[in-house]
Amino acid sequence: LLTIEGVWKNYHGHSVLRGIDLSVEAHEVVCLIGASGSGKSTLLRCVNLLETVDDGTIHLDGKEITDVRVDADDVRKRMGIVFQAFNLFPHMTVLDNITLAPRKVHKVGREQAEHQARELLERFGLADKAASYPDRLSGGQQQRAAIIRAMATRPRLMLLDEVTSALDPALVTEVLSVIRELKEGGMTMILTTHEMGFCREIADTVCFLDDGVLLERGTPEQVFTDPRQPRTREFLRSVL
Ligand code: ATP
Ligand code: MG
Repeated sequence: LLTIEGVWKNYHGHSVLRGIDLSVEAHEVVCLIGASGSGKSTLLRCVNLLETVDDGTIHLDGKEITDVRVDADDVRKRMGIVFQAFNLFPHMTVLDNITLAPRKVHKVGREQAEHQARELLERFGLADKAASYPDRLSGGQQQRAAIIRAMATRPRLMLLDEVTSALDPALVTEVLSVIRELKEGGMTMILTTHEMGFCREIADTVCFLDDGVLLERGTPEQVFTDPRQPRTREFLRSVL
């Protein structure tokens, strides 16, 4: 579904991504781990075309999206991205937040968009919050609404960047259960997390980024119990 080949990204002469190769199959859940500053968010931003790559290519569904002639908005329509900080629009109700992109970008009619939004809210346990404004929701509920909003456009791929790290531990669980539900629904995802326990549970593939290099990839079982690289071992020892 997604193929990243030889991707480099430099900021002010410093290479933040150094020749990343990674392919993601349909329904696969890939978890990026690595120290702060290792390039996890930058990689997600490159996939979503929020950043241009300095070298290498990214293909989505067999089509090169890093080609300069490609319409970035068109590519982004096929992906959902959720960041650490809640990015709901504060002046809109939860329902309006969720229906905005389907209606404006995908030209879905209001009635159908609202019907789909209510179905998603139901599925993720937020049905009673449809008419609420974001500031009336807990952090966990806001983040769930942000994930639902990203899902509302029926993306091919979901990119989730530290979606639990701004939350109180008590609220983390509910957001994790939403991600678990997405996985059960067959959604293809690339996520970054500092929650190793969750990573281990949800990932099909774990990728360890070390200073912009994808140093190790494997099943959670392999990476967590028998890492090949000393750097991976060191990182895991520092976080587990
Ligand atoms: P964290 O775990 O803290 O979220 P990360 O792995 O997501 O870290 P990135 O945010 O991808 O790391 O950052 C990788 C490197 O790129 C860092 O050294 C960061 O300072 C640098 N960087 C990221 N964005 C920019 C930018 N817009 N301009 C300059 N440098 C940047
Ligand atoms: Mg980051």
